Amino acid sequence: LLRAVGVRKSYGHTEVLGGIDLEVHKGQVVCLLGPSGAGKSTFLRCINHLETIDAGQIWVDGEPIGFRQRGGKLYELREREVARQRRDIGMVFQRFNLFAHRTALENVVEGPIRVLGVKPDEARKQGLELLDRVGLGQRGDAYPAQLSGGQQQRVAIARSLAMKPKLMLFDEPTSALDPELVGEVLEVMSTLAGEGMTMVVVTHEMSFAAEAADEVVFLADGAVVETGPPDQVLSAPKHERTRQFLARIL
Ligand code: ATP
Ligand code: MG
Repeated sequence: LLRAVGVRKSYGHTEVLGGIDLEVHKGQVVCLLGPSGAGKSTFLRCINHLETIDAGQIWVDGEPIGFRQRGGKLYELREREVARQRRDIGMVFQRFNLFAHRTALENVVEGPIRVLGVKPDEARKQGLELLDRVGLGQRGDAYPAQLSGGQQQRVAIARSLAMKPKLMLFDEPTSALDPELVGEVLEVMSTLAGEGMTMVVVTHEMSFAAEAADEVVFLADGAVVETGPPDQVLSAPKHERTRQFLARIL
């Protein structure tokens, strides 16, 4: 479902991604680990074209991101077509960035109504179902400020799901949360994974990676150092760099 080949990205003279390859099959959960500055966020942002890449190619569900393929050639897409591609890719950030002046339910239904053209009544019905799925069926009328960080992050997940994405990207979704709120968000993510959602998750939550990931990718200095099933990469890493990183965070 997701294929990245030789993805490179520089800011000025600083190379942040030095040729990343990654393959994620439908229904798989891949966790990206790595030290600060490794390029994890940048890579996620490249996947949904919040950043343009300097070299390489990213495909989501057979479509090259940012391009249209015709007769073996690639043509750059216009902004509105990029926006269409981006709709299929949900993204949940460290900070919940909900609309502060809108209720939980209004946050969830905004995209479907405005972008997908879903009728308001239908969108509300679906929105309530989604809030229910993340354990907030009773809190649709609450404003973000009235919700805990963990609840806000679950609303953010519901809001992403409302767009019916093919792929979900998570960038350290629990790292801004108080420790006691981390579990409820990871639980929602585990459920989602169990339901077959394809997910790429940047996280430092090793227990989540160990339990939910099909594959763990360790990134450092803009390169994939090591990749494999979690029991191998987390318990018996092959590379010294991975061992050092794990030793520091475990
Ligand atoms: P963290 O764990 O701290 O979130 P990360 O692995 O997500 O780190 P990135 O945020 O992708 O790392 O950043 C990788 C490198 O790219 C860093 O050295 C960062 O300073 C640099 N960088 C990121 N965004 C920009 C930008 N817009 N302009 C210039 N440099 C940037
Ligand atoms: Mg980051």
